[in-house]
Amino acid sequence: MRRLIVAIDGPAGVGKSTVARLLASRLGYLYLDTGALYRAMAWAVIESGRDLADAEAVAALLPTLSLQMQFHQGTATVLVNGKDVTGDLRTPAVSAAASVVSAIHAVRVWLLPIQRQIGQDGAVVAEGRDMGTKVFPAADVKFFLEADPTVRAQRRHRELVAAGHFRVLEETTADLAGRDKRDRSRSIAPLVPAEDARFIDTSRLSVSEVVDQMMVVIAARL
Ligand code: C5P
Repeated sequence: MRRLIVAIDGPAGVGKSTVARLLASRLGYLYLDTGALYRAMAWAVIESGRDLADAEAVAALLPTLSLQMQFHQGTATVLVNGKDVTGDLRTPAVSAAASVVSAIHAVRVWLLPIQRQIGQDGAVVAEGRDMGTKVFPAADVKFFLEADPTVRAQRRHRELVAAGHFRVLEETTADLAGRDKRDRSRSIAPLVPAEDARFIDTSRLSVSEVVDQMMVVIAARL
């Protein structure tokens, strides 16, 4: 069996994380959630009191920062300077902050080797915005997920409410639209599909239907 690198990209709310986690577990692969690294970075910048949009101030923080992702039985723990911040990463404030710091060139350069090192032995399902274009351009299989914006906002809204974050749907819709615009329009590593990515529209598919479609493609490469 080959140990493939599977790259999954797409905007927020298309079901990337759920799909990537299930796919990784079916394949017995590592699930690499690169958004968690950008979120941890955002967490660290907020914690430091620096202005998220001040590229120089954020870049000056990087040499003082240690960021680790530890894997245990299919779940990842993210440590910032040795502190477990995993439980703090999925709040609306950190989501918005992650999308701001992720547009800083120095941040992307700093996170690149961390992501590549985790994926270096293959057998990984890597999920994010630039997996197929920048981080793993030679990935064996690349998927780009899309979904109707209304469906994406409803999904993200349900996730937030289930996690105890009260938001009205309109707020979540606006957050998502703002984050999308920033992610797609930034000058470095914008959210764009790799030329050789396969598109899957998840609007009307269940998680297992998406994974089944992916498995057909992957099985041919194993
Ligand atoms: O995927 P997730 O919603 O956790 O990502 C949070 C933010 O991190 C995204 O909105 C995006 O700005 C950034 N990100 C990125 N590149 C990645 C993964 C995430 O720029 N590979």
